[in-house]
Amino acid sequence: MARTVNPPVQRGSTVLMPSASTLYDTHQPTYGRQGLSAQNALTDALDALEGAVGTCLYPSGLAAVTGVLLALLKSGDDLLVTDGIYGPTRRFCAQVLAPFGVTTRYFPADARPAEVMAMATPSTRMILLESPASLTFELQDVPAIAQAGRASNILTAIDNTYGAGLIFKPLAHGVDVSIQALTKYVGGHSDLFMGSASAADPAILRRLAAGVVNVGWSVSPDDAYQMHRGLRTLAVRMEQHAASALTVAQWLKTRPEVDEVYCPPLPGSPGHDLWRRDFTGGNGLFAFTLKPASETKVHAFLDALDLFGLGFSWGGFESLAIHCDPQLPFRQEPPRLGGPLIRLHIGLEAPQDLIADLEQGLGALDAG
Ligand SMILES: *Cc1c(COP(=O)(O)O)cnc(C)c1O
Repeated sequence: MARTVNPPVQRGSTVLMPSASTLYDTHQPTYGRQGLSAQNALTDALDALEGAVGTCLYPSGLAAVTGVLLALLKSGDDLLVTDGIYGPTRRFCAQVLAPFGVTTRYFPADARPAEVMAMATPSTRMILLESPASLTFELQDVPAIAQAGRASNILTAIDNTYGAGLIFKPLAHGVDVSIQALTKYVGGHSDLFMGSASAADPAILRRLAAGVVNVGWSVSPDDAYQMHRGLRTLAVRMEQHAASALTVAQWLKTRPEVDEVYCPPLPGSPGHDLWRRDFTGGNGLFAFTLKPASETKVHAFLDALDLFGLGFSWGGFESLAIHCDPQLPFRQEPPRLGGPLIRLHIGLEAPQDLIADLEQGLGALDAG
């Protein structure tokens, strides 16, 4: 077969073995569900990016988070989770883990390591982090929590979708499992679902891999190929997202309609000091609060936007906006904010065009 720049896409459930004596040889691929050329190229690349001994793939980002929890927890265990966690993960803890006998308790999204560790009991098996939080962007002292967890024999895992394996390296900071929704920045084009979990310790990797095999997860070779292609441009896209987001965030900060900007890479923003210490770059995602305004005015602002689509998810080439207030009451401790919370994903459009769009949106808010 000719050698190409990119990996071949092997579509196959059945794998033909060379001889009868190799049918049960577990050292070679014997069935397509385990992944063939394209999936292997993707996990090799993610291993290098994450500094991992191995990476497991899952059919979505949410499946990666729930897969890690299922693989590493058992009945009677206690799980500590940041109150800023991605909403569907919270739902899984309540609706699936609780009936299976795993308790979940939440710590404040900006809790100091000592506060987190003070909640640990002899049953606490894992701490699940997400830093910054998806909507409100609180940061955690991840290295300190990972170190304290290790000293107490408690595993740490992080939903590092924000970091994309690129601008924050959880495994290098001592976290046991780095999880990503590859759907976001790695895919980068809003047309693919996939998740990953990477580990630095072979024993933890074996437990994650057993979880994948036992539950029966598999990702398609075509999706793995596309995801691998996304990785090629991740770093250059991310740099542009980050530069444009900073420009837009700085502009919003000057606007009289805006109460606060929650963008860790922006100097003066909450969490900026931890971000500067632990991150090597920014991305396109941040939020801001408007000064108190009615829901009608908030909707008028969003509906007036032209370049920003109204939609969930992020990490693609396109800019998106949502209002977040309907999601905040699900938190154990709803954040105290100065007004309605808007989250933006800054895509790859020209930042001056995005600013002009926001400016006319704020005009509709003022008029609304
Ligand atoms: C989107 C997202 C997920 C879930 O990813 P899917 O591929 O949509 O299932 C998990 N965590 C975070 C932080 C996310 O933003």
